[in-house]
Amino acid sequence: MPYIIGRMLSADRILERCESLAQHSELPGGLTRVFLSPQARAASDKVLAWMREAGMQAKLDPIGNAVGRYEGERPGLPCLMLGSHLDTVRDAGKYDGMLGVIAAIECVSLLSSQSKRLPFAIEVIGFGDEEGVRFGTTLLGSRAVAGIFDQKTLAATDATGKTMSQALIEFGLEPQAIPKIARKKGDVLAYAELHIEQGPVLEAEGLAVGVVTAINGFSRLRVTLRGAAGHAGTVPMNLRHDALAGAAECALAVERVALGHPELVGTVGRFEAKPGAINVIPGEVMFSVDVRAPQDPLREEAVATIRSQIEKISRARKLRCEIEDLQHFGVTACAPRLIAQMERAVASQGFRVRRLPSGAGHDGMALGSITDICMLFVRCKGGISHNPLESITKEDARAGANVLFAFINSFSS
Ligand SMILES: [Zn+2]
Repeated sequence: MPYIIGRMLSADRILERCESLAQHSELPGGLTRVFLSPQARAASDKVLAWMREAGMQAKLDPIGNAVGRYEGERPGLPCLMLGSHLDTVRDAGKYDGMLGVIAAIECVSLLSSQSKRLPFAIEVIGFGDEEGVRFGTTLLGSRAVAGIFDQKTLAATDATGKTMSQALIEFGLEPQAIPKIARKKGDVLAYAELHIEQGPVLEAEGLAVGVVTAINGFSRLRVTLRGAAGHAGTVPMNLRHDALAGAAECALAVERVALGHPELVGTVGRFEAKPGAINVIPGEVMFSVDVRAPQDPLREEAVATIRSQIEKISRARKLRCEIEDLQHFGVTACAPRLIAQMERAVASQGFRVRRLPSGAGHDGMALGSITDICMLFVRCKGGISHNPLESITKEDARAGANVLFAFINSFSS
């Protein structure tokens, strides 16, 4: 089926809307917008209004996702699901998540202005929580849609001690209705997400867009080492059980294991020493471990090695060690047929096709359990994300939206 592209997708409007959403922040002069906050309410209200303006029926679902639906040739057809997230990390950029939602709305707006209906519906979802900043677990919105949201998660608390269940109710939502939004296999033809790359590959190769092959899996651990606090002046070095010195050795072990394979990454991102005084030997240290890889066996083996090294270091230093598994997610492969379709869409816009894996987690990890997924990456300046310096060009926003539009239309051919 022939289609006209590029004529009316507005890159100006896409960037203006990213700016507009960035106004809703709990942090003045920066951008921090967490799940179920007043700022999230304001942002999702805007997104719902843009969805309606683009010809969609739109509402907030029971977990706080902004969901818009553009019917196909007749009502009730299975949908092509597009989207990304509307929450941010602390002191975030304006494009991580939001760009994918806004670009998808822009594509629907173009279809709607052409009075064009496809042989399937389109749903655009702005997920309420992907980053997991407020309650410490990620992908809450997309897990609910995929039917893999564990209702026990509702008891999780935020930094103020409020449960997720309370926060949802105060937001005017119905936590008990969350299981009802789970989509059935067959209701969703595919899930496609446009997202900034969050890495430097596309920029290094001079490319506006790239086609994602898979989302790397991750494992997260919380490690607590306990030794003995003591006076920094009176306890001789050979009689100490310094939990921080041990934890530092463990952090170096994580780095060493991750350096052992070019596709492996390992990070100790949090480090808390108690009691935390200049003249006291640290008696207890908590640190986090995050390990990611494009193959599950590679990641699993690295995690097992890290665990045994932490135990060995603890034994040698006579520290007690506790290792908790926080979260594990296997690799989510993008569907070969969708990768091929996205590649044709990229080529149709005159760009060289470049495949690359995603080192960061995305909502597709959850949706992969009910449908085939694929992703399109858009170049970002310096590969920087999760940072106010996050930036994209208008040309790249246009390129991404045009490719997404070509991809959507290729479903009907
Ligand atoms: Zn993101």
